[in-house]
Amino acid sequence: MIFLDSAGTTPVRREVLEAMWPLLTGDFGNPSSHHELGESAKRALNGARKSVAASIGCRASDVIFTSGGTESDNLAIKGFALAEPRGRHIVTSAVEHEAVLESVDYLARIHGFEVTVLPVDSRGLVDLDNVRDALRPNTTLCTIMYANNEVGVVQPIAAIAELCQVHGVPLHTDAVQAAGWLPLDPAVLGVDALSLSGHKLGAPKGIGVLIAKGRRSLEPVLHGGGQERGKRSGTENVAGAVGFAHALALAENDRAERAERIRRLRDDFVADVQARVPAAILTGPELGETANRLPNNASFCFPGTSGESLLLELGRAGIICSAGSACAVGSDDASHVLTAMGIDEEIAQTAVRFSLSGETTAEELATVAAEIETAYRAVRSLSG
Ligand code: PLP
Repeated sequence: MIFLDSAGTTPVRREVLEAMWPLLTGDFGNPSSHHELGESAKRALNGARKSVAASIGCRASDVIFTSGGTESDNLAIKGFALAEPRGRHIVTSAVEHEAVLESVDYLARIHGFEVTVLPVDSRGLVDLDNVRDALRPNTTLCTIMYANNEVGVVQPIAAIAELCQVHGVPLHTDAVQAAGWLPLDPAVLGVDALSLSGHKLGAPKGIGVLIAKGRRSLEPVLHGGGQERGKRSGTENVAGAVGFAHALALAENDRAERAERIRRLRDDFVADVQARVPAAILTGPELGETANRLPNNASFCFPGTSGESLLLELGRAGIICSAGSACAVGSDDASHVLTAMGIDEEIAQTAVRFSLSGETTAEELATVAAEIETAYRAVRSLSG
């Protein structure tokens, strides 16, 4: 099997599992318990919190453990919007993950927030002038993703943050796809909050982090026993938190070198696919626009086919990739990301995303490029 769906999920790394194991077995305490096992779990949890803070470059008290990227997005968006006394206006973009778009939609439907959805250009980028025009003195929150899960476009978050700062508007960014590939330091990015998910990083599913700068108040979404300084109630997933911290530290350790190596492999792969299937359209930013594209994303449309049929053909050849993104359950609709980029709905249905991991090899990519050509011809001959 050749796995090219790392933007969908990643396997748990052995070192991560080993770090988690003691907390699932012998040292299984509840961090809220006032006995030795509880105290030990609390130490492990706080150690994980400090480690995440050190990996990212924030304060340990800014780290809130959640159940994943979806919860982190919900907490940041609902939490900031409902805690902010001024205004009822949210700015977001048309290419956000559903966890963001649906949270914003909830605030609009149930709490009467006004929403400005920023358009994107054909590469998937938001325009800074549009951000500037959208922000108002009473804007409650701006939420724009760092890197896109479908086409890998990287938004100019630091420049957006500067604009938000002029109006004192809190900025949240969904950094789920950026983690492990791009720098995350919230002070450098200038964001108030940043969402992360463990299973994109070599930690298990069901653990995530919201980095939320302490100076902003955050209304909790989950109410209960007051864990995570009252920001996120519920008995903490101690082993998950330890696994997350470990996975993030490992990913940060070799990030720059790995990102550059994978970017080169990806660029060669894209060139190979385009040579074999000249009709293939690379979606998202051009490869030369290194700063604007995740190094591990190669996403195409193959006009005259269907993404699902190509996926089946590639699956038969032992290649795992994705038609668009894996994030919406059972959706057959054309991707909202591709249509926002101005791609025709019919063409958008032919999208296939290949997302590389740090372990992907040149040999694997050569095999995949050849199999794409075969699959493309097979699907074309069936539909033609
Ligand atoms: N945000 C982005 C950009 C994602 O790609 C995903 C998952 O694919 C999520 C949020 C949701 O994360 P989780 O699966 O941890 O809930």
